[in-house]
Amino acid sequence: MARKRFGQHFLHDQRVIERILSTLDARSDDRLVEIGPGQGALTSPLLERVARLSVIEIDRDLVAALRRQAEREPRLDVIEGDALKIDYAALAEQRNGTLRLVGNLPYNISSPLLFALLASPAPIQDMHFMLQKEVVDRMVAEPGGRDYGRLTVTLGAQAHAEHLFDVPPGAFSPPPRVMSAVVRITPRPPLFELADQRLFYRLVTAAFSQRRKTLRNALSAFVSVATIEACDIDPGLRPERLSAADFARLANAVAAEAPAPD
Ligand code: SAM
Repeated sequence: MARKRFGQHFLHDQRVIERILSTLDARSDDRLVEIGPGQGALTSPLLERVARLSVIEIDRDLVAALRRQAEREPRLDVIEGDALKIDYAALAEQRNGTLRLVGNLPYNISSPLLFALLASPAPIQDMHFMLQKEVVDRMVAEPGGRDYGRLTVTLGAQAHAEHLFDVPPGAFSPPPRVMSAVVRITPRPPLFELADQRLFYRLVTAAFSQRRKTLRNALSAFVSVATIEACDIDPGLRPERLSAADFARLANAVAAEAPAPD
């Protein structure tokens, strides 16, 4: 029985599973961590490819089944817990290297999990996640388009996102209501120095919460027209015209003018 509150949609389409494995291209010595292994659709084939696999699962009943599997297969390391609360830096230390993450994620935790992972000091090589297609479209959007927004800018500042392929609802049991897609996210050094990261996030959030307004109006509580112009940005533009670097310049100019309020 799938549990709705844990966002359980179990993969059963063998071609999709094969495709995830082939794009992941895991090597035997990869420090692979699977988030939300569920009934193990990806877990067993992953275990065939790597020397050791850590899995993080929140559902006690599924954990019990995974633990039974681990008794037969000690290369499987089962962690019972909430993926949002795991200390990934400690896990990387325990696994003695840089982590690779993979998972068909419960959609309700995908964004907070992603940002928790990017904010964590854990060394992470890449992440291959199944997400709602609509979220992946926003991650990889180009400036100017409908999908370009807060997620594109805040993720793009610290990682490269690549849409790999779409997955229809029929690949899962029970089928979700929406299309899914697999994305590869590769963390990278920040594209620019930020004087105040929280201010950057707040500025981007404010800009896109009123995306039909011009910057001048959407950001009037934060930043003066003169400051926007001093950053070489037209205050009459809509936020979707700005790159992540534009937002960073603007945030740094605001930070230089006054300490950010809490
Ligand atoms: N990987 C399996 C598959 O592809 O069939 C299951 C995918 S299902 C969409 C999501 C899985 O994540 C479920 O097993 C669910 O119990 C688990 N899960 C949900 N919330 C979680 C959390 N906060 N931390 C860890 N696992 C979670």
